[in-house]
Amino acid sequence: MKVLVINSGSSTIKYQLIEMDTEQAVAAGRVERIGYDDAQHQHLVAPGVLPHKPDGYEFREVAPVLDHTAAIRRVLAALTHREIGVVRDATEIAAVGHRVVHGGEKLTRSVRVTEEVKREIRATFDLAPLHNPANLLGIEATESLLPGVPQVAVFDTAFHATMPRVAYLYALPYVIYKRHRVRRYGFHGTSHRYVSRRLGELLGRPSLEGLNVVTCHLGNGASVCAVKDGRSVDTSMGFTPLEGLIMGTRSGDVDPGALPYIMAREELTPAELNSMLNKHSGLLGISGISGDFREIEEEMERGDSRAREAFEMFEYRLRKYIGGYAAAMGGLDAIVFTGGIGENSWRLRGAIVRNLAFLGLELDEDANVAGRGERRITTEGSRASAWVIPTNEELVIARDTLATVQEAEPAAIPGR
Ligand code: AMP
Repeated sequence: MKVLVINSGSSTIKYQLIEMDTEQAVAAGRVERIGYDDAQHQHLVAPGVLPHKPDGYEFREVAPVLDHTAAIRRVLAALTHREIGVVRDATEIAAVGHRVVHGGEKLTRSVRVTEEVKREIRATFDLAPLHNPANLLGIEATESLLPGVPQVAVFDTAFHATMPRVAYLYALPYVIYKRHRVRRYGFHGTSHRYVSRRLGELLGRPSLEGLNVVTCHLGNGASVCAVKDGRSVDTSMGFTPLEGLIMGTRSGDVDPGALPYIMAREELTPAELNSMLNKHSGLLGISGISGDFREIEEEMERGDSRAREAFEMFEYRLRKYIGGYAAAMGGLDAIVFTGGIGENSWRLRGAIVRNLAFLGLELDEDANVAGRGERRITTEGSRASAWVIPTNEELVIARDTLATVQEAEPAAIPGR
């Protein structure tokens, strides 16, 4: 049985077709620059899927793609292509799973897409104006091209729905929460969920009951999550994905009092301030070089002092969060690193683990630097452990999609 996973952005659609028996992607790709005359479609077929292309197959095409419907039409054409198609026709696609960034307070688990669910996603547009409208475009385009194929929405916020009120409320006038839903929601939930579950499997403790874990999703966007007994009890992103860690171009935590001051001094509009905080801050803002962690490390190696400072601030902020979450949970049993930086930067992982030795972590230098893929990077004798676990959000979405469509009735929206 095959599930199509779609991650629809404002001008990009990423997709994977996953064979659920093996949980392997048989094909994957992306359409970029949707809406432009020079849109690009990249499509890959995995090795071993096509008998006449045993090493796999890849194509790139540049052509006008008018909108999301046209983009998904291209995707379906590639998947069902006479020569390089991985399915005979679209009826072999059992279900479609969509990544939706924000579920608000009501959509707190994966749900079958219904008119009511779409209304609720629309109701969260103002909470995630850059993401949710694009996610819904992808859902509606798929519905029009694959009528009758069940669709499931999987929310980035859902894993954090278990956060207690003390963790998710801001100390603002309560009416602001009641009237405008301003509270902490958290993001990257699908990734934090995947790596924490996977850690449970690796530890032979699938429920993670009795364990205090901190998962670090460190990519262009970055967040940390406190996972107690397998459930998210706190996370560093808040009302928006801006709070918390220093990121590629996002500031993370800043004294809110500094913001009106900056606005006045620099004569910035709210939109300009937003742009400054989201696009011109973080590693890029500090270093003046790049928001890309690898480039920061390269410049640091060449002796650039601002790149070094950006690295050190990134590590310091992350370390404070991990320590804070150990305090919040009453202990620390394991840390997981994932995302482009977490999976690849031995320097950053090494610094974090060494600097947190007081929490019972002892780095295994070889495993950290020379090891590859999923592994433990602390010594056998280390009281707490640290791990690298490459994330797989698409697989979580596919699994949830299958489980949700196998439920007899579409689930009601909680709270209704
Ligand atoms: P993601 O958003 O998960 O794709 O992660 C992107 C981030 O991972 C960028 O800041 C990259 O520079 C960083 N990254 C990718 N590969 C490496 C690497 N080998 N060493 C350090 N950072 C890396």
